[in-house]
Order: sequence, then structure tokens, then C-alpha cells
Amino acid sequence: MKSVLPRNNMAASNRRVSVLRLGHRRERDKRITSHLGLTARAFGADEVILAGEEDESALETWRSVSERFGGEFEYRYETNPLSFLRRFAKDAGDGKPGEIVHLTMYGESWRESLGVIERNRPMVIVVGGTKVPGEVFKLAKYNISIGNQPHSEVAALGVFLESLIGQIDESKHFQGGEIQVIPSLDRKKVMSLEEE
Ligand code: SAM
Repeated sequence: MKSVLPRNNMAASNRRVSVLRLGHRRERDKRITSHLGLTARAFGADEVILAGEEDESALETWRSVSERFGGEFEYRYETNPLSFLRRFAKDAGDGKPGEIVHLTMYGESWRESLGVIERNRPMVIVVGGTKVPGEVFKLAKYNISIGNQPHSEVAALGVFLESLIGQIDESKHFQGGEIQVIPSLDRKKVMSLEEE
């Protein structure tokens, strides 16, 4: 039986959330892929996995932001994302199936589906770039739409993670960085955390 948790209970369950970016094209998707990883990090995912064309510059952006702003965010390149998903669907590393969520405009509404998504298992959230292989729709336990209109993988991921994970305590979540933003209504305030 699927566990049904209230909205925004992900932080409490503390399960690993990875974002798999399919079909990256080095030149065309440079900025959007970089922003996708930063959105994954900022909204509380644990890892971004890059697939498609290998691209050191995306990995370097995620490394450098994580170093400056802290946290335990991981990032890596995956040569064969479909094999990775096939394995993950059967075994998330502990001998039990992982949860695959595919964000697609053809899916079931996220508002309707959040309540039935199993949150107590490692999860991979898949987003596309170029045409997504049909097998992804089958491997995914949940094909989820953020509305049924075409828009952007960054927007879809941000909305979905915010609904899934909810508010994160940034001062705890992003520790060990070199700088910290001090929220301010009237000016830019940044604290340097580097030791002299
Ligand atoms: N052209 C691609 C295709 O035919 O599958 C999709 C391009 S779209 C800009 C890139 C990605 O954004 C999609 O693969 C999906 O992950 C995400 N996306 C776009 N609109 C979405 C929506 N309404 N709901 C959920 N995800 C969406």
C-alpha cells in the first residue's frame, strides 16, 4: 500500500531526492541546464545527474555555487540514463525499488498526485530537454504535469520541489559555505564566513 503523507512532509522523512536532466545539449542548453541544477539545489534536492552531452561547465557551476553557498549538494554525469533508470526502478541501492517521477506536460496534475506519491523511498525526478524517450513514461511510476501546457523544465522542477519538500531551513541546509545571504527588504546584505 502506498503511504499517503500530508503536503510538505518530505523534509521530515529525509529521503534522498535526485534530479535527472535528460538530453542535455552543450551549446543550446548551457544556461537552462545550469539553472536547473541550481534550482534543484536551492529547493532542497540532494543531487543533480546530467545526461546527454557531457559538459564540464555545468558541473563546474554546480560545484562552485555549492562551495561558495554551502550544503551537501552532489552532481555527476551519467553516460547511460536509461540503464540507470531501469536499475533504479528495481533497486535504489538497498535492494528495493526507487521512485521515479517524470515531469511532463502529458502527466497527471501534480495537485492531484502529490498525496499518492511514495515519499519514504529514494526518488529520481526526471526532466527532459529534447524529445523524451517513450520508455521514460513506462519506467516512471508517476508521470506528473505542472499544468498541461508546455513551459520550462526549470519552472516545472521549482514548482514540484516546492510542493514536495516545502520550506527548507537554509541556515541548516546550506552549511559550510564561504558566504551567506542575510535576507533584507531594503538592501543587499551578504556575510562572509571565510576565516581570516
Ligand atoms: N520537446 C520536448 C518533448 O517533446 O518532450 C519537451 C521540451 S520541454 C521545454 C522540456 C521539459 O520541461 C520536459 O521534458 C518536461 O520535463 C518539462 N516540462 C515542460 N512543460 C511541463 C509541464 N507542463 N509539466 C511538467 N513538466 C513540464
